[in-house]
Amino acid sequence: MRISKLLLPTLREDPADAEVISHKLLVRAGLIQKVAVGIFNYLPLGCRVIRKVENIIRAEMNRAGAQEILMPAVVPAELWRESGRWHKYGKELLRFKDRKDAEYCLGPTHEEVVTALARAFVHSYKQLPLNLYQIQTKFRDELRPRFGLMRGREFIMKDAYSFHADEASLDAEYQNMRETYCRIFEACGLRYKIVEADSGNIGGSVSQEFMVLAENGEDALLSCAQCSYSANVEAAVSAPLGYAQGRPLDSPNKKTTLETAPGVREISTPDKRTIEEVSAFLKTPPENLLKTLIYYYKSNEREDHVVIVLRGCDQLNEVKLKNYLQADIVLPAEDSAVREITGVEPGFCGPVGLKKARVISDELVKTISGGVTGANKKDTHLLNVVPGRDFELKETADLRLAQAGEKCPHCGAPLEAVRGIEVGHIFKLGTKYSEAMQATYLDQSGAARPFIMGCYGIGVGRTAAAAVEQHFDASGIIWPPALAPYQCVVIPANIREPEQAAAAEKIYQELLAGGAEVLLDDREERIGVKLKDMELVGITSRVVVGKALSEGKVEFRWRAAKDNELLPVAAAAQTVLARLRA
Ligand code: ATP
Ligand code: MG
Repeated sequence: MRISKLLLPTLREDPADAEVISHKLLVRAGLIQKVAVGIFNYLPLGCRVIRKVENIIRAEMNRAGAQEILMPAVVPAELWRESGRWHKYGKELLRFKDRKDAEYCLGPTHEEVVTALARAFVHSYKQLPLNLYQIQTKFRDELRPRFGLMRGREFIMKDAYSFHADEASLDAEYQNMRETYCRIFEACGLRYKIVEADSGNIGGSVSQEFMVLAENGEDALLSCAQCSYSANVEAAVSAPLGYAQGRPLDSPNKKTTLETAPGVREISTPDKRTIEEVSAFLKTPPENLLKTLIYYYKSNEREDHVVIVLRGCDQLNEVKLKNYLQADIVLPAEDSAVREITGVEPGFCGPVGLKKARVISDELVKTISGGVTGANKKDTHLLNVVPGRDFELKETADLRLAQAGEKCPHCGAPLEAVRGIEVGHIFKLGTKYSEAMQATYLDQSGAARPFIMGCYGIGVGRTAAAAVEQHFDASGIIWPPALAPYQCVVIPANIREPEQAAAAEKIYQELLAGGAEVLLDDREERIGVKLKDMELVGITSRVVVGKALSEGKVEFRWRAAKDNELLPVAAAAQTVLARLRA
């Protein structure tokens, strides 16, 4: 391809709305263009990168025995009603009506469609197992679309769904997909980790995420320095009682505590609402404070409010709360609900005296003896609060976010905090969808049984963005070679110099003939501008035809390297071809 003909709108400035490096560089290098919030055009070079990711995925999925299909973007509400998700799925599901008033959504994921597909065509255990995948555009009306391709509203996903007659077959396919994903992300040239994950909205029991390690990653992970345990903090099991932040806590000796602890008393805390404010004002560490949160939740059966109590130094893990309550939605309560339940505005709430409310305490709350909590009275807190004495510990659960320094649940070594970008996710779904949608097959004895299912997703655009987050320098992107839009660019320093132009053209043609993906920078730009552009875009290697041509030489350089190497002009193309193949 001749760059004079290529649509390559590179920019010198970062786009104003870009926060992370991949968003900045993908826009500046002319790979993507914003059309609306979270919705992008893929320009010629961006499209090539996307196709490369897709082709790596496609090759490995085919090799693993999965079959490619293509399902629609527009999905009838009826299928989502069958699974029960039409109402459960939040506002991310873009619902709309056609001219006949029939309801539809834009598919954010395709369990419903594929389950209906299997129901129509797979009737016997003899047709199982089956793994169907697609590479297709999804739409999710994300609350906070940002970071360019990393969290878009419209994005390309590879989603695969497997169907099985028994758990053993699902286990085998899950393992097969896990290995396939490892091959895919290795082929993409990415450093990644497999972490334990929460199964979230999709349901099911076992799930793992593939995380590309990057400072800007949206996901917080805890990773054991000694063994292979890594988990999304959303899913990380907190260390068992007795260990917190890597050091043993004295086990609470309730007897002595109760006998010796003074009774509860009020203390005036004007305008001191947050843990930090109260802790500083009363000169007591956050470990000694009881944090009280009021949450709203909604599930199939009910919607209600709960009071959550945690140590002041801990954060609530909403995913754990959601799982504990078996809720579809959990949200911090509105101020009006807080007032109704506690009689006071947020900031001064506490569990003492809340007779009617359902109070759930994190399991470490009972390690506090003589703590501080809101008094359910404006500008007032309570001192000397003993959980179990001054309020009931009827329900306790592991509700806090696990933290760096806590002990690994497998080997006891301290966990480290790292950040990652979730590029892939594998789940064991079980019979959640097949049961709800009555998708069954006949087993060997002729009995109808629901399919046992697995599902496996990869974000295609997010994978490309993650590659940039891991591979860049001050000049621009350094694509892993497998994802680079082109492998080589031939740059005549001055296209108006007939000798340079002719030599560059000849090398370009030879590279093309040798099967390389190659660009010719035939623009009438200064050499500095051309080099800058190609460094920004991240083309894997370059051949500059410039001054050295008078000595029969051209300059070769890898994008990732600092120094030029002189190659004899006659052998240049063959040498470059050999290196690109190596
Ligand atoms: P996240 O927690 O990041 O929202 P998710 O758990 O909702 O992800 P899945 O439903 O498992 O994601 O989707 C499969 C894959 O699709 C993810 O691993 C991710 O790579 C990609 N993906 C999900 N949401 C987006 C998005 N908004 N933009 C780009 N890629 C996405
Ligand atoms: Mg999501």
